[in-house]
Amino acid sequence: MFEVGAALLGACVGSFLNVVIWRLPQDDPRQRSLGGRSRCPHCGTQIRWHDNLPVLGWLLLRGRARCCGKGIAVRYPLVEALTASLFLLLAIWPPFGPVLLATDHGVAFDATAAAAFGLHALFLSLLIACTFIDFDHQLLPDVLTKPGMAIGLLGGFWPGLAGVASTNDAAPLALRTLLASALGLCVGGGVTWLIRAAGSRIFRREAMGLGDVKFLAMIGAFLGWQSALLTLFLGCVVGALVGGLLALRAGLGMRIPFGPYLAVGAVVSLFVARPLLDLLFVQWPEWQRSSPSAQWFLLVLALLSLSALFLLVRRGRRAG
Ligand SMILES: [Zn+2]
Repeated sequence: MFEVGAALLGACVGSFLNVVIWRLPQDDPRQRSLGGRSRCPHCGTQIRWHDNLPVLGWLLLRGRARCCGKGIAVRYPLVEALTASLFLLLAIWPPFGPVLLATDHGVAFDATAAAAFGLHALFLSLLIACTFIDFDHQLLPDVLTKPGMAIGLLGGFWPGLAGVASTNDAAPLALRTLLASALGLCVGGGVTWLIRAAGSRIFRREAMGLGDVKFLAMIGAFLGWQSALLTLFLGCVVGALVGGLLALRAGLGMRIPFGPYLAVGAVVSLFVARPLLDLLFVQWPEWQRSSPSAQWFLLVLALLSLSALFLLVRRGRRAG
């Protein structure tokens, strides 16, 4: 039951994220406000509540506005479906779920899992909003990343959230998880800032945005420093693959925002950081020792990620 609830909640949050993605970057302060009923972007008619239902509304209207018959972008239901599936995944993925456990005496409520679910559902929502705003406007708004950093840090007060195992250590668990979040924020933001500074020095122009720095600092505050570095690495690899494919089709001149790739890296890190880190730092070195041809593979991968970083940094972009 909780899983179904999580998916429904995700669909509704996704519907709200569509509003955030559309209104936050507007220049006019009146349009920027998140309150008030939704209006048709074409003719300004207020949208009826049943036409505004997540995913269903779009399907029932078959992608056409009831008021003026203009097309409604397929991205709206897609954002809602994406948020719903990520929330559902979170609800069944330990340690974020399951929140309700069937026991001999009925149903038990796991408060730590519930807190972890809530915190990381918020994290996923921030990632989705930032991704699509970055797609549209090449900027990662401070209004999202700065509170995100604060919430990620505060989440550290709840023991066990930042993935710090409880041991017999003298320091209280809450203090250590808080330190893990703070370290994640500093490493995530610091490394991105260094790459940005080096890129600006070498190419003599604004390389990457300050928005990327704050975005990765936020990701570090939620996930800790190892996952922040993993996110940066994955973002570069995904960026190299997608950027390379796009460059083949559209030529090298186009600007590609870095935020969406970082967000993909962050989602992957959120769910599978442990096995991935184990693969990279334990299994891989063992495999390398046992087979000499592994060196070539490593070299190709290193070159790929380096050229990805080079491409991304050289493009340059607006600060958030
Ligand atoms: Zn209309």
